[in-house]
Amino acid sequence: MTKILIIYTGGTIGMMNDTTTGGLRPFNFSQIVENVPELKRLDYEITVVSFDPIIDSSNMEPAIWVQLAKQIGDHYNEYDGFVILHGTDTMAYTASALSFMLEGLNKPVVFTGSQLPIGEIRTDARENLITALEIASAKKDGKARVPEVSIYFDFQLFRGNRTFKYSSYKFEAFRSPNYPPLAEAGVHLRFNDNNIRPCPNCSLHVQTEINPSIAVLKLYPGIQPRTVEAMLDVDVAAIVMETFGSGNAPTNGWFLRALRRAIDDGKTILNISQCPVGSVELGRYDTSRALKEMGVASGYDMTFEAAAAKLMYGMGKGLRGRRLELLLEDDIAGELTKEKGTR
Ligand code: ASP
Repeated sequence: MTKILIIYTGGTIGMMNDTTTGGLRPFNFSQIVENVPELKRLDYEITVVSFDPIIDSSNMEPAIWVQLAKQIGDHYNEYDGFVILHGTDTMAYTASALSFMLEGLNKPVVFTGSQLPIGEIRTDARENLITALEIASAKKDGKARVPEVSIYFDFQLFRGNRTFKYSSYKFEAFRSPNYPPLAEAGVHLRFNDNNIRPCPNCSLHVQTEINPSIAVLKLYPGIQPRTVEAMLDVDVAAIVMETFGSGNAPTNGWFLRALRRAIDDGKTILNISQCPVGSVELGRYDTSRALKEMGVASGYDMTFEAAAAKLMYGMGKGLRGRRLELLLEDDIAGELTKEKGTR
């Protein structure tokens, strides 16, 4: 019999209104099961474990990613698949981080949650949870159908490290602008096998060291030298730089000098675009040529969430300088596409 482990970390899916503060706060998971009697009708064995304490995902931290990854690693051989119930606010970060940390994964790890608590009449939680379980247990020729870290939400299954939280209002909370869905749920559950990454003969290794000391430099017209210099001076080894369009930045002397100084000091700068759709193409415009020449790394079409998590993962592995850049520019968990014109 197929066995699935649900790990409940917190999030709106399991929240209720606090009668004193009027705000939403997490409640005990046993009440979730009561709210989804359909779970008892599924023909696989489901075990539920709950974080203690359960958290709003805005309180998520890399140390908790490690805890979650270890939990999956500890129970890896006992289960066919894993469903992670997680708040939507930082779900894309956790899914991205786990896609790197769970090296050699060949079983499904499906994240889901909801926009409305599971106890509410119009809730999206029941459908999200039940279909996430169906996906985690789906097999073809005896092998897991989606052996990767994914996010199931609002009838679509995305690769986790390709998503970002798109809406705090719509049931469509996530989008994956640079990679097509892995599956779509309608009357049938339709798997897009060509988009799924198989990992035959893989065996799991959990990377448990994560180094969160990164900084973020978001460019905008009018950014001042002291702002750029302050960000580049922060005592961290790597910086995600969010640039314009296809990876473009100002060509002012002061700006380029500040970046070059940071690189000469041994810092890694990872260039990702502020555009949700499309890719960094260093050298396409004059405004990115200098970045390429000085050794800024290209994040191609990575989301910010994947870029930040990949840097923390790479630095957690002790990589610095050229070796870190090579990892960043490589596609290690389906998080980036290098070929042009694939969208
Ligand atoms: N604040 C909640 C969380 O991320 C939002 C949600 O679950 O949708 O935990």
